[in-house]
Amino acid sequence: MLQLKDISYQYEKTPLLENLNLHLADHEILCLLGKSGSGKSTLLRIIAGLEKPDHGDIFWNGVSILNVPPFKRNFGLMFQDYALFPHLTVFENIAFGLEMNKVNSEKIPPIVEKLLKQVGMESFANRKVTELSGGEQQRVALARALAPQPHLLMLDEPLGALDHTLRVSLLAELRRILGENGIPSVYVTHDQDEAFSIADRIALLHDGVIVQTDTPENIFLKPKSVWVARFLGLNNLLPATGVTDSQILLKLNDRTIYLTIPLEYPLVEGQKIWILFRDEKLQLTNDADFSIKGIIKESIFKGSNYETHVEIAPGTVFSVINEKKFQAGTEIELFYSPEDLLALLI
Ligand code: ADP
Ligand code: MG
Repeated sequence: MLQLKDISYQYEKTPLLENLNLHLADHEILCLLGKSGSGKSTLLRIIAGLEKPDHGDIFWNGVSILNVPPFKRNFGLMFQDYALFPHLTVFENIAFGLEMNKVNSEKIPPIVEKLLKQVGMESFANRKVTELSGGEQQRVALARALAPQPHLLMLDEPLGALDHTLRVSLLAELRRILGENGIPSVYVTHDQDEAFSIADRIALLHDGVIVQTDTPENIFLKPKSVWVARFLGLNNLLPATGVTDSQILLKLNDRTIYLTIPLEYPLVEGQKIWILFRDEKLQLTNDADFSIKGIIKESIFKGSNYETHVEIAPGTVFSVINEKKFQAGTEIELFYSPEDLLALLI
């Protein structure tokens, strides 16, 4: 399938992408997640062949396509702004790519009708696209991108212009439709929730570098660095120091805490790391061996539970998920088990 090898790209002498490596398996939805301006669209343009990397190579089924022009790659692109043809009907928009590819005109209507059905737009075939809502236009754009049966589909923030409720319902549908068509897809977004809902794997882009590529579960449960943890909103972090290859030292207020925690790599003495306390593992009741004292700042109602903020040192606030509301100012203890802690590289 698709493989990117050591891709580097500069824009006006500023490095934008550095030594990027990625592969995409059959039927896979890979999500490229990164902040706005992190180079996501540029990477898609490189894959599409609209931009040439300064360094590195792109392979399709093991063969370099670096010098293959965009239209011969047979990769589909779908953007946020749909870019539908306003003077054409829904049917004509979807048929457009097939006509360009010189598909036999008798074969076009059944293909278009099948796609219309898949995206739930059967009854809209003769509508002008200017008479559609944002969500409907997005469905047509998807059908149009799928029509020529591209080898690969690239979606660049396709739901970015829609409101939250519509995004959530369309995401599930998009995942189903991409799965039904079996077309490997690269889905670009800056929205974490979107990435976690749709991706088989997520590649996290930061400062031109892919900092972690993993399943959504692994990214969330085992972030590779403190940057990844913070990006995901995991902020219960304390700095620590390696003592032996498995023991760490935490300093909190006047306390010095030695802990033995599971480590994926051996630590060097004196090595600076960060320790992540997962908010769902911190307990406000005494059923673990270790504890940290703190003062309740606030309990925020979150529907099925409360998110409680606890100040454990001046300026250091941990959040905990729990079932009850606590009064601000209450002194409490946060209990944790060392085996639930995660050591993160800086
Ligand atoms: P993202 O899609 O993650 O928001 P982009 O790939 O669009 O990021 O852009 C990354 C950075 O590169 C931006 O800061 C942008 O200014 C710059 N850039 C890259 N290519 C171009 C271009 N052709 N024209 C203008 N700016 C560009
Ligand atoms: Mg972009």
